[in-house]
Amino acid sequence: MSSLSHTQGRQDPPLLETTIGEAFDDAVRRHADRNALRVRHQDLRYSWRQLGEAVDRCARGLLAVGVEQGQRVGIWSPNCAEWCIAQFATAKIGAVLVNVNPAYRLSELEYVLAQSGCSWLICAESFKTSDYQAMLLELLPELAGCVPGELASPRLPALRGVVSLAEAPPAGFLAWSALQARADEVAPDVLAARSAQLVPEQPINIQYTSGTTGFPKGATLSHRNILNNGYMVGESLGLGADDRLVIPVPLYHCFGMVMGNLGCVTHGSTMIYPASAFEPEATLAAVAEERATALYGVPTMFIALLDHPRRGDHDLSCLRTGIMAGATCPIEVMRRVIAELHMAEVQIAYGMTETSPVSLQTGADDTLDLRVTSVGRTQPHLESRIVGRDGAVLPRGEVGELCTRGYSVMLGYWNDPEGTAAALDGEGWMHTGDLAQMDADGYVRIVGRSKDMIIRGGENIYPRELEEFFFTHPAIADVQVIGIPDEKYGEEIVAWIKFHPGHDASEPALRDWARTRIAHFKMPRHFKVVDEFPMTVTGKVQKFRMREISVAELQAQREAEPAVS
Ligand code: AMP
Repeated sequence: MSSLSHTQGRQDPPLLETTIGEAFDDAVRRHADRNALRVRHQDLRYSWRQLGEAVDRCARGLLAVGVEQGQRVGIWSPNCAEWCIAQFATAKIGAVLVNVNPAYRLSELEYVLAQSGCSWLICAESFKTSDYQAMLLELLPELAGCVPGELASPRLPALRGVVSLAEAPPAGFLAWSALQARADEVAPDVLAARSAQLVPEQPINIQYTSGTTGFPKGATLSHRNILNNGYMVGESLGLGADDRLVIPVPLYHCFGMVMGNLGCVTHGSTMIYPASAFEPEATLAAVAEERATALYGVPTMFIALLDHPRRGDHDLSCLRTGIMAGATCPIEVMRRVIAELHMAEVQIAYGMTETSPVSLQTGADDTLDLRVTSVGRTQPHLESRIVGRDGAVLPRGEVGELCTRGYSVMLGYWNDPEGTAAALDGEGWMHTGDLAQMDADGYVRIVGRSKDMIIRGGENIYPRELEEFFFTHPAIADVQVIGIPDEKYGEEIVAWIKFHPGHDASEPALRDWARTRIAHFKMPRHFKVVDEFPMTVTGKVQKFRMREISVAELQAQREAEPAVS
């Protein structure tokens, strides 16, 4: 064992050296009549054979409209069956699927379509308050009169056409059903010939990562990256053909399309989508009624499920395992998920879009303590290390930046060599920007984002530590700690708090409770009670937004206060 914070994952099982299309066809052959996909909000069910037929039809439709190998095809839609079908259809023809965040508005949509040079876009009719078709017609007035496939727009010169998932889309859009009908123009052999040309190292997916950081960058991932990551995540969970996985996380994010869809395809497990976007009640009902064995979610989703007033109406005893990931997984929430959601084998995964995403994961045989307090050990065929500001590997136990290397690391950011060089060093290490420490046995604990660390009066304060602490207060359902600028101390601590339904506590009571339990310099200067945190669609808390809000509110308060004479 090394005394330095550097570990290598196991070398087994071997990596899959196939394309996504081959892995998908293999699942279709092996599991033919078993359940592949259940989409509850569309009331759809597919066996593997039926899903295979739907995917091939879509792939031939895309070939018929002229999609070339390597061309980018965007998808702008909340979770639905067509998302899954498009994922595997594009993979089979070697088109690079570009995941567009369903919450994007016009300027963000234009940015990602232009930056990736999409030749086709598949879009839903609408999502929440976004009318996608109206937005597209505003962005591309030429679309209204165009023959699908012959769009010529000065704003998006690469874009040829838009496929709409609406039942009766306006003129200019190609209906999804019409795309499927065009499959008849292309013989199955043509599709097989295209698939045979593909190799696992080719790019197959671009995911724009932004959310907590701001400006979106297109992480470009190969078959080899994401197929293997889905496979290894499923291996860690022990998924098999009898498992049924509820996927309430968005498909546009790697949690849904890699850990969810590819995790299931590589193990013959059933994919279950409860709703178009996360809804606690629909998720609980999906688990109970589909007799699910596994459930995925980010911490805020699990908190919503645990606190749901009608949770008791649903029999969740069928659950065995699942994953909590995507953000700090509070210890208290993990304990409750094990005890109250029956997920005895739940695991924590850690990663980021740029690393396919998962690079560390707890295992079924880890002790309960490690399974709730750490993000586990390095995944097979990967390396992790923790470096100091000077780039040197730190001794075990010291806090520094976590870096990942191996098959899962992205090819780069799309058309952005500078951004790529800033994230990936010359030795292939992806610099995560997360602060972490590694123990003697190689278990890693995430301390926070390096830019979220608060320096108050010269003391380093890790928000994660304070969040875990406030979680132990019986009235607190969720808590986020941020730093805001302060003239005297450099930074001051603000705690945003959500109480459990029907509970609360006054600020003086919270302070009294905390005073005897934490060092005085860690005491938040301000508490803010909220019902919701500002979130990305993937359920990540946007700390930069919280900082902006707190700074503005405190400024307004100061201005309203009478001047002391
Ligand atoms: P994304 O690329 O959207 O998946 O975001 C990646 C970021 O999410 C990481 O850099 C971490 O900051 C955070 N993250 C993901 N999983 C975890 C975890 N298990 N614990 C703490 N933070 C996490």
